Amino acid sequence: MSRFWSPIVHTLTPYVPGEQPKLQKLVKLNTNENPYGPSPAVLAAMHEANSDALRLYPDPNADQLKDAIAAYHGLGREHVFVGNGSDEVLAHAFCALLKHDKPLLFPDISYSFYPVYCGLYQIDYRTVPLNDAFEIDVADYEGDAGAIIFPNPNAPTGRLLPLADIERLLQRQPDVVVVIDEAYIDFGGDSAIALIERYPNLLVVQTLSKSRSLAGLRVGFALGHLQLIEALERVKNSFNSYPLDRLAIVGASASFGDEAYFRATCDKVIASRERLGAALASLGFDVLPSAANFVFARHPQHDAGRLAAGLREHGVIVRHFKAPRIDQHLRISIGTDAECDALIAALRTTLG
Ligand code: PMP
Repeated sequence: MSRFWSPIVHTLTPYVPGEQPKLQKLVKLNTNENPYGPSPAVLAAMHEANSDALRLYPDPNADQLKDAIAAYHGLGREHVFVGNGSDEVLAHAFCALLKHDKPLLFPDISYSFYPVYCGLYQIDYRTVPLNDAFEIDVADYEGDAGAIIFPNPNAPTGRLLPLADIERLLQRQPDVVVVIDEAYIDFGGDSAIALIERYPNLLVVQTLSKSRSLAGLRVGFALGHLQLIEALERVKNSFNSYPLDRLAIVGASASFGDEAYFRATCDKVIASRERLGAALASLGFDVLPSAANFVFARHPQHDAGRLAAGLREHGVIVRHFKAPRIDQHLRISIGTDAECDALIAALRTTLG
């Protein structure tokens, strides 16, 4: 605390990111990174960038990347917004689209950055409980709302909402912006991008951090109606005219050109997820069905905090949230099969 701070800084409770260990060699299953590297085409494109790539400012509109994303998803460039990771895209969406007289709605178990952005932008919000199966019920969002946001699949539960439910919500709430945060959609769900042309109130946010193995490059994007994109551009241009550096623009663009690698990587992660879920179940865990690159599981007889600490002693890190209703769960990112085997072996010893 300091008397030099602006008043709002005293009120902020910032997001605490998952640990990025610097010293030890750990089996790192705590922040939902992809265990496989990005497509070789990404690295090749970045290598080819010439010295002007760093001498000059990047394209403030990142048109090369917008075109790659637009072509990939069958929309025009004007429907695409890009940013420095989907966290930044989401931050701009909170500022540009989610502050209204009525409260913003999101699930009570959801991405924990949402309340942080509400604090930063002074947005009034109301959380909506998930049902007993940790699912979102869209009927709960049909009342009075200033705007709505949730991840699909949800995080940290991994539970997927069918596209038909999202469409029903868009029909019932035509005057309310609905943001679907699809950070994990490529691991098993149908994207709401298919609905964009029919629903001007829908914004879909995706990232290259998970399914495209580019968490370190920091690239995310949003797709939506021109008016929503224009609002995001206004906020972005009031903040930083160059959201992406030149290497990020060429690397991310190349990722969309290597569909075979992308599909093969996602398929490997999905197969490992099913394998890991079965192995956890055989150790007595209750494992929620997941459509993401992580599983969310609890052991009825063992304290989750102690399990996480025990795993760490064996060199495996997973995520444990000390939050109501989920403090007995562990969120475990899908690693290579060898990493998942190391986790299972460490759990066997920890469970005793
Ligand atoms: N949305 C959700 C639901 C997430 O879990 C994450 C990853 N922490 C993000 C958005 C942000 O991802 P990134 O900024 O790496 O694109």
